[in-house]
Amino acid sequence: MKNKNKNKKKKISFKEMVSHAKQYGFVFPSSEIYDGINAIYDYGQYGIYLKNNIKEYWWKSMIQINENIIGLDTSILMHPNIWKASGHVSKFKEIFLYNEDTKYSYRLDLLLETYFNENHLRKKEKNIKNNIIKYIYKKFKVKEQYKILSLINKLKINKQLNKWTKIYEYNLMFKIPLKEHKNFYLRPETAQGIFTNFLNVLNTSKIKIPFGIAQIGKVFRKEIIARQFLFRMREFEQMEMQFFIPPNQEEKWLEYWKKKRFKWHLSLGLGETKYIFSEHEQLAHYAKKAYDIQFKFPFGFKELEGIHSRTNFDLKNHEKYSKKRFRVFDKEKNKFYIPYIIETSLGLDRMFLAVFSSSLKKETIKDTKKERIILKINPALSPIKAAIFPLIRDKRLIYYAKEIYKNLKLYFLLIYEENDSIGKRYRRQDAIGTPICVTIDFKTLKDKCVTMRFRDKMLQKRVLIKDLKREIKKETSMKQLFKLLL
Ligand code: ATP
Repeated sequence: MKNKNKNKKKKISFKEMVSHAKQYGFVFPSSEIYDGINAIYDYGQYGIYLKNNIKEYWWKSMIQINENIIGLDTSILMHPNIWKASGHVSKFKEIFLYNEDTKYSYRLDLLLETYFNENHLRKKEKNIKNNIIKYIYKKFKVKEQYKILSLINKLKINKQLNKWTKIYEYNLMFKIPLKEHKNFYLRPETAQGIFTNFLNVLNTSKIKIPFGIAQIGKVFRKEIIARQFLFRMREFEQMEMQFFIPPNQEEKWLEYWKKKRFKWHLSLGLGETKYIFSEHEQLAHYAKKAYDIQFKFPFGFKELEGIHSRTNFDLKNHEKYSKKRFRVFDKEKNKFYIPYIIETSLGLDRMFLAVFSSSLKKETIKDTKKERIILKINPALSPIKAAIFPLIRDKRLIYYAKEIYKNLKLYFLLIYEENDSIGKRYRRQDAIGTPICVTIDFKTLKDKCVTMRFRDKMLQKRVLIKDLKREIKKETSMKQLFKLLL
Protein backbone atom coordinates (compact mmCIF):
# COMPACT_ATOMS: atom_id res chain seq x y z
CA MET A 1 0.00 0.00 0.00
CA LYS A 2 1.19 3.50 -0.84
CA ASN A 3 0.38 6.23 1.69
CA LYS A 4 0.27 9.71 0.17
CA ASN A 5 -1.50 11.30 3.06
CA LYS A 6 0.33 14.42 4.14
CA ASN A 7 -2.12 16.82 2.61
CA LYS A 8 -2.63 20.43 3.71
CA LYS A 9 -6.06 21.11 5.25
CA LYS A 10 -8.12 24.27 4.62
CA LYS A 11 -11.28 25.51 6.32
CA ILE A 12 -14.66 25.34 4.59
CA SER A 13 -17.04 28.22 5.26
CA PHE A 14 -20.75 27.76 6.02
CA LYS A 15 -21.59 29.34 2.65
CA GLU A 16 -19.29 26.94 0.79
CA MET A 17 -20.84 24.01 2.66
CA VAL A 18 -24.38 25.05 1.66
CA SER A 19 -23.35 25.49 -1.96
CA HIS A 20 -21.55 22.11 -1.97
CA ALA A 21 -24.75 20.49 -0.69
CA LYS A 22 -26.60 21.92 -3.68
CA GLN A 23 -23.92 21.43 -6.31
CA TYR A 24 -23.45 17.75 -5.47
CA GLY A 25 -27.10 16.77 -5.15
CA PHE A 26 -27.49 16.63 -1.34
CA VAL A 27 -29.87 19.48 -0.50
CA PHE A 28 -31.87 21.81 -2.75
CA PRO A 29 -33.90 24.84 -1.63
CA SER A 30 -37.55 23.88 -1.95
CA SER A 31 -39.61 25.41 -4.79
CA GLU A 32 -36.48 27.03 -6.16
CA ILE A 33 -37.93 27.74 -9.61
CA TYR A 34 -40.45 29.99 -7.83
CA ASP A 35 -37.67 31.71 -5.81
CA GLY A 36 -37.80 29.24 -2.94
CA ILE A 37 -39.55 29.39 0.39
CA ASN A 38 -38.03 30.16 3.81
CA ALA A 39 -36.82 27.33 6.01
CA ILE A 40 -38.01 24.51 3.72
CA TYR A 41 -35.61 22.22 1.83
CA ASP A 42 -35.63 19.20 -0.48
CA TYR A 43 -33.12 16.37 -0.31
CA GLY A 44 -31.36 15.46 -3.56
CA GLN A 45 -30.20 12.02 -4.68
CA TYR A 46 -27.13 11.74 -2.42
CA GLY A 47 -28.85 13.65 0.39
CA ILE A 48 -31.63 11.11 0.69
CA TYR A 49 -29.20 8.15 0.67
CA LEU A 50 -27.21 9.76 3.48
CA LYS A 51 -30.37 10.69 5.37
CA ASN A 52 -31.73 7.14 5.03
CA ASN A 53 -28.46 5.71 6.34
CA ILE A 54 -28.59 7.97 9.43
CA LYS A 55 -32.21 6.89 9.91
CA GLU A 56 -31.31 3.21 9.54
CA TYR A 57 -28.48 3.51 12.04
CA TRP A 58 -30.71 5.25 14.60
CA TRP A 59 -33.64 2.87 14.00
CA LYS A 60 -31.58 -0.30 14.26
CA SER A 61 -29.63 0.91 17.28
CA MET A 62 -32.97 1.47 19.03
CA ILE A 63 -35.07 -1.46 17.78
CA GLN A 64 -32.56 -4.14 16.86
CA ILE A 65 -29.94 -3.62 19.56
CA ASN A 66 -32.40 -3.18 22.47
CA GLU A 67 -34.80 -6.06 23.03
CA ASN A 68 -37.11 -3.83 25.11
CA ILE A 69 -37.75 -1.19 22.41
CA ILE A 70 -40.28 -1.56 19.62
CA GLY A 71 -41.16 0.68 16.68
CA LEU A 72 -44.31 2.43 15.42
CA ASP A 73 -45.30 4.61 12.50
CA THR A 74 -48.26 6.79 13.44
CA SER A 75 -50.17 9.37 11.40
CA ILE A 76 -49.30 13.03 10.99
CA LEU A 77 -52.95 14.07 11.29
CA MET A 78 -54.55 13.21 14.61
CA HIS A 79 -57.70 13.97 16.56
CA PRO A 80 -57.63 17.63 17.71
CA ASN A 81 -58.29 16.60 21.33
CA ILE A 82 -54.82 15.06 21.41
CA TRP A 83 -53.29 18.53 21.18
CA LYS A 84 -55.59 19.83 23.91
CA ALA A 85 -54.67 16.94 26.22
CA SER A 86 -50.95 17.27 25.47
CA GLY A 87 -51.01 20.98 26.34
CA HIS A 88 -49.84 22.03 22.87
CA VAL A 89 -52.93 24.13 22.10
CA SER A 90 -52.49 26.28 25.20
CA LYS A 91 -48.71 26.11 25.74
CA PHE A 92 -46.76 25.30 22.58
CA LYS A 93 -45.98 28.97 22.11
CA GLU A 94 -42.90 31.02 21.55
CA ILE A 95 -42.31 34.68 22.21
CA PHE A 96 -41.11 36.71 19.25
CA LEU A 97 -39.45 40.12 19.06
CA TYR A 98 -40.03 42.31 16.04
CA ASN A 99 -37.10 44.34 14.77
CA GLU A 100 -37.92 47.57 13.01
CA ASP A 101 -34.61 47.81 11.10
CA THR A 102 -34.70 44.39 9.49
CA LYS A 103 -38.52 44.04 9.50
CA TYR A 104 -38.03 40.51 10.79
CA SER A 105 -39.25 38.72 13.88
CA TYR A 106 -36.80 36.75 16.02
CA ARG A 107 -37.45 34.09 18.65
CA LEU A 108 -36.67 35.67 22.00
CA ASP A 109 -35.38 32.49 23.66
CA LEU A 110 -32.81 32.01 20.88
CA LEU A 111 -31.66 35.64 21.01
CA LEU A 112 -31.27 35.34 24.78
CA GLU A 113 -29.46 32.01 24.51
CA THR A 114 -26.87 33.46 22.11
CA TYR A 115 -26.52 36.62 24.20
CA PHE A 116 -26.05 34.78 27.50
CA ASN A 117 -23.60 32.31 25.94
CA GLU A 118 -21.48 35.01 24.35
CA ASN A 119 -21.38 37.53 27.21
CA HIS A 120 -20.09 37.36 30.73
CA LEU A 121 -22.97 38.75 32.80
CA ARG A 122 -22.33 41.31 35.52
CA LYS A 123 -24.68 41.73 38.48
CA LYS A 124 -26.82 44.37 36.77
CA GLU A 125 -27.28 42.23 33.65
CA LYS A 126 -28.03 39.17 35.74
CA ASN A 127 -30.87 41.10 37.40
CA ILE A 128 -32.22 42.13 34.02
CA LYS A 129 -32.01 38.50 32.85
CA ASN A 130 -33.96 37.32 35.89
CA ASN A 131 -36.56 40.01 35.33
CA ILE A 132 -36.99 39.04 31.70
CA ILE A 133 -37.45 35.42 32.68
CA LYS A 134 -39.92 36.46 35.37
CA TYR A 135 -41.98 38.66 33.06
CA ILE A 136 -41.83 36.58 29.97
CA TYR A 137 -41.64 32.95 30.81
CA LYS A 138 -43.49 32.89 34.08
CA LYS A 139 -46.38 35.21 33.25
CA PHE A 140 -46.32 36.74 29.80
CA LYS A 141 -48.97 39.44 29.42
CA VAL A 142 -49.34 41.37 26.18
CA LYS A 143 -50.16 44.54 28.10
CA GLU A 144 -46.76 44.40 29.80
CA GLN A 145 -44.89 44.29 26.51
CA TYR A 146 -43.42 47.80 26.90
CA LYS A 147 -41.91 46.90 30.25
CA ILE A 148 -40.29 43.85 28.68
CA LEU A 149 -39.16 45.77 25.61
CA SER A 150 -37.44 48.36 27.74
CA LEU A 151 -35.58 45.58 29.61
CA ILE A 152 -34.50 44.04 26.33
CA ASN A 153 -33.35 47.34 24.91
CA LYS A 154 -31.24 47.88 28.05
CA LEU A 155 -29.45 44.59 27.43
CA LYS A 156 -28.34 45.38 23.86
CA ILE A 157 -29.23 41.84 23.07
CA ASN A 158 -27.71 41.77 19.60
CA LYS A 159 -24.66 43.72 18.43
CA GLN A 160 -26.11 44.53 15.00
CA LEU A 161 -29.76 45.03 15.85
CA ASN A 162 -31.25 47.68 18.13
CA LYS A 163 -34.77 48.76 17.34
CA TRP A 164 -37.01 46.17 19.01
CA THR A 165 -40.53 47.52 18.72
CA LYS A 166 -42.96 44.70 19.32
CA ILE A 167 -43.14 41.58 21.41
CA TYR A 168 -45.76 38.92 20.85
CA GLU A 169 -46.53 35.30 21.47
CA TYR A 170 -47.75 32.73 18.99
CA ASN A 171 -48.46 29.04 18.76
CA LEU A 172 -46.02 27.12 16.58
CA MET A 173 -48.57 24.55 15.37
CA PHE A 174 -49.86 24.72 11.80
CA LYS A 175 -53.63 24.84 11.84
CA ILE A 176 -55.34 23.42 8.76
CA PRO A 177 -59.02 23.96 7.96
CA LEU A 178 -61.16 20.84 7.87
CA LYS A 179 -64.92 20.62 7.54
CA GLU A 180 -65.59 18.32 10.49
CA HIS A 181 -62.97 19.77 12.86
CA LYS A 182 -62.38 23.48 13.19
CA ASN A 183 -59.09 23.10 15.08
CA PHE A 184 -57.12 20.55 13.13
CA TYR A 185 -53.31 20.58 13.29
CA LEU A 186 -50.24 19.13 11.61
CA ARG A 187 -48.33 17.36 14.39
CA PRO A 188 -45.46 19.39 15.92
CA GLU A 189 -43.85 16.27 17.52
CA THR A 190 -44.10 12.52 16.88
CA ALA A 191 -44.38 11.66 20.59
CA GLN A 192 -48.18 11.99 20.87
CA GLY A 193 -48.73 9.18 18.32
CA ILE A 194 -46.68 6.97 20.64
CA PHE A 195 -48.61 7.93 23.79
CA THR A 196 -52.01 7.47 22.17
CA ASN A 197 -51.01 3.96 21.01
CA PHE A 198 -49.59 2.97 24.39
CA LEU A 199 -52.58 0.73 25.19
CA ASN A 200 -52.53 -0.87 21.70
CA VAL A 201 -48.88 -1.81 22.16
CA LEU A 202 -49.50 -3.23 25.65
CA ASN A 203 -52.45 -5.27 24.36
CA THR A 204 -50.71 -6.66 21.28
CA SER A 205 -47.21 -7.45 22.56
CA LYS A 206 -45.64 -9.22 25.50
CA ILE A 207 -43.49 -6.22 26.33
CA LYS A 208 -43.31 -5.13 29.99
CA ILE A 209 -42.25 -1.93 31.72
CA PRO A 210 -39.52 -0.64 31.50
CA PHE A 211 -39.81 -0.52 27.70
CA GLY A 212 -39.54 1.98 24.87
CA ILE A 213 -41.41 2.88 21.70
CA ALA A 214 -39.46 4.50 18.87
CA GLN A 215 -40.73 6.39 15.87
CA ILE A 216 -39.33 8.41 12.98
CA GLY A 217 -41.58 10.88 11.22
CA LYS A 218 -42.30 14.28 9.77
CA VAL A 219 -43.35 17.14 12.01
CA PHE A 220 -44.29 20.74 11.29
CA ARG A 221 -43.67 23.98 13.20
CA LYS A 222 -44.36 27.59 12.27
CA GLU A 223 -40.74 28.66 12.68
CA ILE A 224 -40.06 32.10 11.30
CA ILE A 225 -36.29 32.13 11.49
CA ALA A 226 -34.53 31.79 8.16
CA ARG A 227 -30.94 31.39 6.99
CA GLN A 228 -29.97 28.52 9.27
CA PHE A 229 -30.17 25.94 6.49
CA LEU A 230 -31.32 22.52 7.81
CA PHE A 231 -30.94 23.57 11.43
CA ARG A 232 -34.31 25.26 11.74
CA MET A 233 -36.98 24.17 9.31
CA ARG A 234 -40.75 24.38 9.17
CA GLU A 235 -41.12 20.79 7.96
CA PHE A 236 -38.59 18.36 9.42
CA GLU A 237 -38.18 14.82 10.73
CA GLN A 238 -37.78 13.68 14.30
CA MET A 239 -36.38 10.40 15.59
CA GLU A 240 -38.01 9.98 18.98
CA MET A 241 -38.04 7.26 21.60
CA GLN A 242 -40.38 7.29 24.59
CA PHE A 243 -39.26 5.05 27.45
CA PHE A 244 -41.97 4.03 29.93
CA ILE A 245 -40.91 3.49 33.56
CA PRO A 246 -42.44 3.11 37.04
CA PRO A 247 -42.70 6.24 39.26
CA ASN A 248 -39.62 7.29 41.28
CA GLN A 249 -37.13 5.94 38.75
CA GLU A 250 -36.84 9.06 36.63
CA GLU A 251 -33.36 10.11 37.79
CA LYS A 252 -31.90 6.68 37.14
CA TRP A 253 -33.35 6.29 33.62
CA LEU A 254 -32.60 9.89 32.65
CA GLU A 255 -28.93 9.28 33.46
CA TYR A 256 -29.07 5.95 31.64
CA TRP A 257 -30.42 7.52 28.42
CA LYS A 258 -28.08 10.50 28.62
CA LYS A 259 -25.11 8.13 28.63
CA LYS A 260 -26.55 5.84 25.98
CA ARG A 261 -27.39 8.61 23.55
CA PHE A 262 -23.99 10.22 24.03
CA LYS A 263 -22.31 6.93 23.19
CA TRP A 264 -24.42 6.71 20.03
CA HIS A 265 -23.23 10.13 18.89
CA LEU A 266 -19.59 9.34 19.69
CA SER A 267 -19.80 6.12 17.67
CA LEU A 268 -20.09 8.21 14.49
CA GLY A 269 -16.58 9.53 15.04
CA LEU A 270 -17.30 13.23 14.59
CA GLY A 271 -15.12 13.95 17.65
CA GLU A 272 -15.90 14.20 21.36
CA THR A 273 -15.06 17.92 21.47
CA LYS A 274 -17.95 18.61 19.09
CA TYR A 275 -20.52 17.82 21.81
CA ILE A 276 -21.59 19.32 25.12
CA PHE A 277 -24.46 18.55 27.49
CA SER A 278 -26.52 21.44 28.75
CA GLU A 279 -29.37 21.46 31.20
CA HIS A 280 -32.51 23.40 30.18
CA GLU A 281 -33.30 26.49 32.23
CA GLN A 282 -36.66 26.98 30.53
CA LEU A 283 -38.54 23.71 30.63
CA ALA A 284 -41.18 22.73 28.10
CA HIS A 285 -44.66 22.54 29.62
CA TYR A 286 -44.48 18.74 29.94
CA ALA A 287 -40.93 18.41 31.31
CA LYS A 288 -39.60 18.09 34.84
CA LYS A 289 -35.94 17.99 33.88
CA ALA A 290 -34.36 18.27 30.45
CA TYR A 291 -30.94 18.09 28.86
CA ASP A 292 -29.73 18.99 25.40
CA ILE A 293 -26.89 17.33 23.61
CA GLN A 294 -25.47 20.37 21.84
CA PHE A 295 -23.31 20.07 18.74
CA LYS A 296 -20.71 22.44 17.33
CA PHE A 297 -22.50 23.51 14.17
CA PRO A 298 -20.79 26.01 11.81
CA PHE A 299 -22.61 28.78 13.72
CA GLY A 300 -21.69 27.56 17.22
CA PHE A 301 -22.90 25.05 19.81
CA LYS A 302 -26.65 24.45 19.39
CA GLU A 303 -29.19 21.82 20.40
CA LEU A 304 -28.97 18.58 18.44
CA GLU A 305 -30.94 16.20 20.66
CA GLY A 306 -33.20 16.65 23.66
CA ILE A 307 -33.39 14.16 26.54
CA HIS A 308 -36.40 14.90 28.68
CA SER A 309 -38.01 13.60 31.81
CA ARG A 310 -41.68 14.06 30.83
CA THR A 311 -43.15 12.70 34.12
CA ASN A 312 -46.56 11.06 33.62
CA PHE A 313 -47.98 14.33 32.28
CA ASP A 314 -48.97 13.02 28.84
CA LEU A 315 -50.54 9.70 29.83
CA LYS A 316 -52.33 11.33 32.77
CA ASN A 317 -53.87 13.95 30.51
CA HIS A 318 -54.83 11.45 27.81
CA GLU A 319 -56.53 9.46 30.54
CA LYS A 320 -58.44 12.56 31.58
CA TYR A 321 -59.48 13.62 28.05
CA SER A 322 -60.13 10.17 26.50
CA LYS A 323 -61.63 8.54 29.63
CA LYS A 324 -59.47 5.43 28.96
CA ARG A 325 -57.29 3.97 31.70
CA PHE A 326 -53.57 4.38 31.00
CA ARG A 327 -52.50 2.24 33.95
CA VAL A 328 -50.28 -0.77 34.50
CA PHE A 329 -50.28 -3.08 37.48
CA ASP A 330 -47.40 -3.18 39.93
CA LYS A 331 -47.42 -6.74 41.33
CA GLU A 332 -45.05 -5.97 44.19
CA LYS A 333 -47.00 -2.98 45.44
CA ASN A 334 -50.29 -4.52 44.42
CA LYS A 335 -51.57 -1.34 42.82
CA PHE A 336 -52.02 0.36 39.44
CA TYR A 337 -49.93 3.34 38.32
CA ILE A 338 -49.63 5.66 35.33
CA PRO A 339 -46.15 5.14 33.80
CA TYR A 340 -43.55 7.92 33.74
CA ILE A 341 -41.63 8.73 30.59
CA ILE A 342 -38.06 9.52 29.57
CA GLU A 343 -37.90 10.86 26.03
CA THR A 344 -34.97 11.04 23.62
CA SER A 345 -35.72 13.33 20.68
CA LEU A 346 -33.27 13.84 17.83
CA GLY A 347 -33.88 15.97 14.74
CA LEU A 348 -32.94 13.92 11.68
CA ASP A 349 -32.20 17.01 9.60
CA ARG A 350 -30.04 18.51 12.36
CA MET A 351 -28.20 15.18 12.57
CA PHE A 352 -27.71 15.31 8.80
CA LEU A 353 -26.32 18.84 9.14
CA ALA A 354 -24.03 17.77 12.00
CA VAL A 355 -22.60 14.88 9.96
CA PHE A 356 -22.39 16.82 6.69
CA SER A 357 -20.92 20.07 8.04
CA SER A 358 -18.29 18.45 10.22
CA SER A 359 -17.21 15.91 7.60
CA LEU A 360 -16.73 18.23 4.64
CA LYS A 361 -13.00 18.97 4.27
CA LYS A 362 -10.82 20.80 1.82
CA GLU A 363 -7.20 19.79 1.31
CA THR A 364 -4.32 20.36 -1.07
CA ILE A 365 -2.72 17.11 -2.18
CA LYS A 366 0.98 17.24 -1.33
CA ASP A 367 2.29 15.57 -4.50
CA THR A 368 0.13 17.22 -7.15
CA LYS A 369 -0.68 20.53 -5.38
CA LYS A 370 -4.27 20.02 -6.54
CA GLU A 371 -7.17 20.82 -4.26
CA ARG A 372 -9.80 18.26 -3.38
CA ILE A 373 -13.02 18.49 -1.38
CA ILE A 374 -13.84 15.33 0.52
CA LEU A 375 -16.90 14.35 2.48
CA LYS A 376 -15.07 12.30 5.12
CA ILE A 377 -18.13 10.62 6.59
CA ASN A 378 -18.20 7.27 8.30
CA PRO A 379 -18.34 4.73 5.39
CA ALA A 380 -21.40 3.11 6.99
CA LEU A 381 -23.28 6.38 6.33
CA SER A 382 -21.84 7.08 2.86
CA PRO A 383 -24.55 7.54 0.22
CA ILE A 384 -22.66 5.36 -2.30
CA LYS A 385 -20.57 2.49 -0.99
CA ALA A 386 -18.26 2.04 -3.99
CA ALA A 387 -17.69 3.40 -7.50
CA ILE A 388 -16.69 1.00 -10.28
CA PHE A 389 -14.51 2.37 -13.11
CA PRO A 390 -12.87 0.94 -16.22
CA LEU A 391 -9.50 2.75 -16.36
CA ILE A 392 -10.23 3.96 -19.91
CA ARG A 393 -13.09 3.44 -22.36
CA ASP A 394 -11.78 0.17 -23.74
CA LYS A 395 -14.32 -2.51 -24.70
CA ARG A 396 -12.69 -5.27 -22.64
CA LEU A 397 -12.27 -3.10 -19.53
CA ILE A 398 -15.87 -1.86 -19.83
CA TYR A 399 -17.10 -5.43 -20.09
CA TYR A 400 -15.24 -6.48 -16.91
CA ALA A 401 -16.29 -3.35 -15.00
CA LYS A 402 -19.97 -3.82 -15.92
CA GLU A 403 -19.86 -7.48 -14.89
CA ILE A 404 -18.40 -6.53 -11.49
CA TYR A 405 -21.02 -3.79 -11.10
CA LYS A 406 -23.84 -6.21 -12.02
CA ASN A 407 -22.75 -8.74 -9.39
CA LEU A 408 -22.04 -6.30 -6.56
CA LYS A 409 -25.15 -4.12 -6.97
CA LEU A 410 -27.13 -6.93 -5.33
CA TYR A 411 -25.35 -6.09 -2.07
CA PHE A 412 -24.39 -2.40 -2.16
CA LEU A 413 -25.50 0.92 -3.61
CA LEU A 414 -22.84 1.54 -6.30
CA ILE A 415 -21.99 3.93 -9.09
CA TYR A 416 -20.60 2.89 -12.47
CA GLU A 417 -18.68 5.58 -14.40
CA GLU A 418 -16.60 5.61 -17.56
CA ASN A 419 -16.58 9.31 -18.55
CA ASP A 420 -13.73 11.78 -17.89
CA SER A 421 -10.24 11.00 -16.59
CA ILE A 422 -9.73 8.72 -13.62
CA GLY A 423 -8.55 11.74 -11.58
CA LYS A 424 -11.79 13.63 -12.22
CA ARG A 425 -13.84 10.56 -11.34
CA TYR A 426 -11.96 10.22 -8.02
CA ARG A 427 -12.61 13.91 -7.23
CA ARG A 428 -16.36 13.51 -7.85
CA GLN A 429 -16.55 10.47 -5.58
CA ASP A 430 -14.50 12.23 -2.86
CA ALA A 431 -16.96 15.12 -2.97
CA ILE A 432 -19.96 12.85 -2.31
CA GLY A 433 -18.17 10.73 0.29
CA THR A 434 -17.78 7.41 -1.59
CA PRO A 435 -15.28 5.48 0.55
CA ILE A 436 -14.00 3.10 -2.16
CA CYS A 437 -13.26 3.40 -5.88
CA VAL A 438 -12.59 0.19 -7.81
CA THR A 439 -10.61 0.45 -11.05
CA ILE A 440 -10.37 -2.23 -13.70
CA ASP A 441 -7.21 -1.94 -15.81
CA PHE A 442 -5.37 -4.07 -18.40
CA LYS A 443 -3.58 -6.05 -15.68
CA THR A 444 -7.04 -7.13 -14.45
CA LEU A 445 -7.50 -9.11 -17.67
CA LYS A 446 -4.51 -11.25 -16.70
CA ASP A 447 -4.44 -11.44 -12.90
CA LYS A 448 -8.21 -11.04 -12.10
CA CYS A 449 -7.28 -8.31 -9.61
CA VAL A 450 -8.62 -4.75 -9.40
CA THR A 451 -7.31 -1.60 -7.69
CA MET A 452 -9.20 -0.47 -4.63
CA ARG A 453 -8.63 3.21 -3.77
CA PHE A 454 -9.64 4.47 -0.33
CA ARG A 455 -11.13 7.97 -0.02
CA ASP A 456 -9.52 9.46 3.11
CA LYS A 457 -5.88 8.46 2.84
CA MET A 458 -5.91 7.87 -0.91
CA LEU A 459 -4.33 4.48 -0.26
CA GLN A 460 -4.48 1.93 -3.06
CA LYS A 461 -4.32 -1.84 -2.98
CA ARG A 462 -4.83 -4.68 -5.44
CA VAL A 463 -7.47 -7.28 -4.57
CA LEU A 464 -8.85 -10.30 -6.32
CA ILE A 465 -12.27 -9.70 -7.93
CA LYS A 466 -13.65 -12.60 -5.95
CA ASP A 467 -12.70 -10.85 -2.67
CA LEU A 468 -14.25 -7.48 -3.56
CA LYS A 469 -17.60 -8.10 -1.91
CA ARG A 470 -15.94 -9.06 1.37
CA GLU A 471 -13.60 -6.05 1.21
CA ILE A 472 -16.40 -3.53 0.55
CA LYS A 473 -18.55 -5.07 3.27
CA LYS A 474 -15.70 -4.91 5.78
CA GLU A 475 -15.19 -1.20 5.05
CA THR A 476 -18.82 -0.03 4.86
CA SER A 477 -20.89 -2.27 7.13
CA MET A 478 -22.96 -0.75 9.95
CA LYS A 479 -21.92 -3.66 12.14
CA GLN A 480 -18.74 -1.83 13.17
CA LEU A 481 -20.89 1.03 14.51
CA PHE A 482 -23.27 -1.27 16.38
CA LYS A 483 -20.29 -2.92 18.10
CA LEU A 484 -19.32 0.45 19.58
CA LEU A 485 -22.73 0.69 21.26
CA LEU A 486 -22.47 -2.51 23.25
P1 ATP B 1 -35.19 24.50 19.60
O1 ATP B 1 -35.06 25.04 21.02
O2 ATP B 1 -33.91 24.51 18.83
O3 ATP B 1 -36.35 25.10 18.86
P2 ATP B 1 -36.71 22.43 20.75
O4 ATP B 1 -36.17 22.37 22.14
O5 ATP B 1 -38.00 23.11 20.51
O6 ATP B 1 -35.58 22.98 19.75
P3 ATP B 1 -37.66 19.76 20.69
O7 ATP B 1 -39.07 20.15 20.72
O8 ATP B 1 -37.05 19.19 21.93
O9 ATP B 1 -36.78 20.97 20.15
O10 ATP B 1 -37.43 18.80 19.45
C1 ATP B 1 -36.50 17.72 19.46
C2 ATP B 1 -35.46 17.86 18.38
O11 ATP B 1 -36.08 18.17 17.12
C3 ATP B 1 -34.47 18.98 18.60
O12 ATP B 1 -33.44 18.59 19.48
C4 ATP B 1 -33.97 19.23 17.19
O13 ATP B 1 -32.95 18.29 16.84
C5 ATP B 1 -35.18 18.96 16.34
N1 ATP B 1 -35.82 20.21 15.95
C6 ATP B 1 -36.62 21.00 16.69
N2 ATP B 1 -37.06 22.05 15.98
C7 ATP B 1 -36.51 21.93 14.75
C8 ATP B 1 -36.59 22.69 13.54
N3 ATP B 1 -37.34 23.77 13.48
N4 ATP B 1 -35.91 22.26 12.45
C9 ATP B 1 -35.14 21.14 12.50
N5 ATP B 1 -35.04 20.38 13.60
C10 ATP B 1 -35.71 20.75 14.71
